Amino acid sequence: MATFKDIEHVTRSAAPAYDLERKPGTITPFSGVYRCFVCGKEIVSEYNKPLPPQSHHVHQPSAGPIRWKLLVFAQHKGS
Ligand SMILES: [Zn+2]
Repeated sequence: MATFKDIEHVTRSAAPAYDLERKPGTITPFSGVYRCFVCGKEIVSEYNKPLPPQSHHVHQPSAGPIRWKLLVFAQHKGS
């Protein structure tokens, strides 16, 4: 589970981008932390680069393939 220290630098969002499941190797739409919806493993992926491939980690066969979901969006604009 992702953690943080200073809550004033993190904002809750209901943006639809957090709800979409993305296949391994999909081009990253937003730089940030992504979580495998199946097992909870988290990674960092950069905008316009592919999310880790299916070979990134192994699930039990019954769990199915990796499915990445955006967990934390990295805001590149300064405040
Ligand atoms: Zn997984």
